[in-house]
Amino acid sequence: MKKLLPVWLTIDSDDIFHHPKFQGHPTRSKKQIKNNSMSEQMKFSFEKLNKWHEKNIDLPITIFLIGEQLECNNFKHSLENLIKNSENWGGKITIGCHGYKHRCWSAFGPDQEGFRKDLQNAKKIIIRNFKKLWRPWFRAPGGYIAPWMANVLKLENFELDSSINPTRFLSIKSGKSQKGFGFNGWDSVDKAINEVEIVERPWLTTFFPAFPACGPALHIPILKIFASSTWKKYTNHRIATDDEIVNKDLKITTVYWHLLDFHKNNGKWVPPLRII
Ligand SMILES: [Zn+2]
Repeated sequence: MKKLLPVWLTIDSDDIFHHPKFQGHPTRSKKQIKNNSMSEQMKFSFEKLNKWHEKNIDLPITIFLIGEQLECNNFKHSLENLIKNSENWGGKITIGCHGYKHRCWSAFGPDQEGFRKDLQNAKKIIIRNFKKLWRPWFRAPGGYIAPWMANVLKLENFELDSSINPTRFLSIKSGKSQKGFGFNGWDSVDKAINEVEIVERPWLTTFFPAFPACGPALHIPILKIFASSTWKKYTNHRIATDDEIVNKDLKITTVYWHLLDFHKNNGKWVPPLRII
């Protein structure tokens, strides 16, 4: 029988205006949303997340947070409220870093200095607000991670990265190869992360062939059917502890969805988990 792996539940906090079609990408960002305060959909999603978390209080979650969101008082208060409720109910929420501005770094050329500044800004504001919940864990905005970013993550004392979506259909996100033609590929990102002794936690994919199964794939026609059945197959086990999440010798299953997903299907959407 196949050994069941502990599962790590993660949520990205992106609001609508963080989508690459609006900002942070050199070619995809065409429309502009000027208003960067919390959207109505996000407000609604927080209410739904509260309800889901109360019902599933034995399931710890990690929220990958975008630093600039904490500059919006409405967002900050909604998150504080969720955390206060969680503590009252006996739940567990930890917080990682999803950048300060949600810039799709690997879609641009290498920019160690800019990336480092962005990480520093994000860490500063997250730690100032949620020191106890902070974990030095990173998820690249839009999943855009290239090998040159590994060294910067190390310099900023990150111990874990969870940005690799190991499907060749999206290897364009691993950045343009420095050797000339093509892209770096997920293997070279994984190698670079490993070389600086940071733990890599790639996302769950469907297996043959490896299609994406997390984030947007949970809502794309056809893909969502495979994604949902794969989640149910691989999440039928216990939740990973913090120690297990950062133990490089241990395999775990990492799944992620967006906080905003809770407003989908008229607020009826829930992550397709089957935890024992
Ligand atoms: Zn994101």
